[in-house]
Amino acid sequence: MSTETKGIHNPIPEAARTLQSDNGYYGRFGGSFIPEILVPAFEEITKHFEAVRYDEAFWHEYCALLANYSGRPTPLTFADRLTAHFGRARIYVKREDLNHTGAHKLNNALGQALLAKRMGKTRLIAETGAGQHGVATATVAAKLGMSATIYMGREDMERQYANVFWMKRLGAEVIGVEYGSQTLKDAINETLRDWVSSFETTHYVLGTASGAHPFPALVAFFQSIIGIETKEQILQASGRLPSRVYACVGGGSNALGAFQAFHAHDEVQLIGVEAGGRGQASGSHASRIAYGEGTPGVAQGYKTLFLQNQDGQMRDTYSIAAGLDYVGVSPILADLAERGRVRFEAAADEEVVQALQLVMKLEGLIPALESTHAFAGAFKHIEETTASDLIIVNMSGRGDKDIFNVAEGLRDEEWNAFIERKHGQYKK
Ligand SMILES: *Cc1c(COP(=O)(O)O)cnc(C)c1O
Repeated sequence: MSTETKGIHNPIPEAARTLQSDNGYYGRFGGSFIPEILVPAFEEITKHFEAVRYDEAFWHEYCALLANYSGRPTPLTFADRLTAHFGRARIYVKREDLNHTGAHKLNNALGQALLAKRMGKTRLIAETGAGQHGVATATVAAKLGMSATIYMGREDMERQYANVFWMKRLGAEVIGVEYGSQTLKDAINETLRDWVSSFETTHYVLGTASGAHPFPALVAFFQSIIGIETKEQILQASGRLPSRVYACVGGGSNALGAFQAFHAHDEVQLIGVEAGGRGQASGSHASRIAYGEGTPGVAQGYKTLFLQNQDGQMRDTYSIAAGLDYVGVSPILADLAERGRVRFEAAADEEVVQALQLVMKLEGLIPALESTHAFAGAFKHIEETTASDLIIVNMSGRGDKDIFNVAEGLRDEEWNAFIERKHGQYKK
């Protein structure tokens, strides 16, 4: 086989390298607030990341594996029926759902696993909330012959048992975290605790573009492939750049992945859509920026806008989409928001369920509930656009994993009856 990777440039496209920090800071956000004992581990990663960032052979190996294992480049689909429905901007959908394991998560897990190999590591550890990042990490560990330990809050394991099942079947060890709220933030603490005593052999595969420097830059680098492809594809399809690019924002990795290639083009509006949950008034949401409720703080190794109370206690967050349910946000996005380069919106659960039904019925696409926030954000302001505009929605993942939540959200009686029958079978 030729060593050329289909549709992907070699050397490293400029967009993969554009985000430069000032000593790990993006404006007033970012930085590195880590225990002394982990300083050598972070220094080692920073050194190797700086090397691979400019290493064409590494980028090539990464792109080739993505092409031949994960199915990249993913298509950019023209949503003709959605476009006709609204009668405004032409709507295109970037199909990250078609990656192996069903979302953009694999881009990052694979890149970091290759980096870990370069550093001579044999074991991967990761935190996971909804379990998607855990599944991606377990998958690449199997593929690259490494061992994996995944930390997950007990509460999250209960909520997302299907992903626990797959991680174990893929050969990973899954450790339930039994303290605190038994969710993502406790899993992060436990992963760091493991790393303190294991970093000689072990790499911590952080799942989103947050955490201490250099993780935000590292994860954004590996996700930049999304925007690099998208830009090439939209130019090929329409001969011009889009007016707007929409992406949902949990920690911020798929959004940064989609945005970076357009960052230098001021005429392209970049819009991040957060989880509006049950609405701002309810207090039950995970919108740090759009609702203006996130305030600067230092936690989990970095400085960003967190949803916290006046004593700096992290608030409980909520979203119908487990992957958006996070108290912090990428320091890179917090800075881009502050500088007005990225605009933030929130989509409430109700709007998301509406948008999902529209996308399914008109396009035959089933976006993940996370990704559906990006669609909902785009639909909400479609009236501002005209037929000469182009909109791109980054569909970060596929929604079949959400069948339990969606069926519940749609109050599907036939599904409930099916679950009861199944339950009856197991009791026998
Ligand atoms: C994890 C996940 C997200 C949220 O994470 P980001 O780092 O903000 O991208 C969004 N969409 C899907 C499908 C996910 O699995």
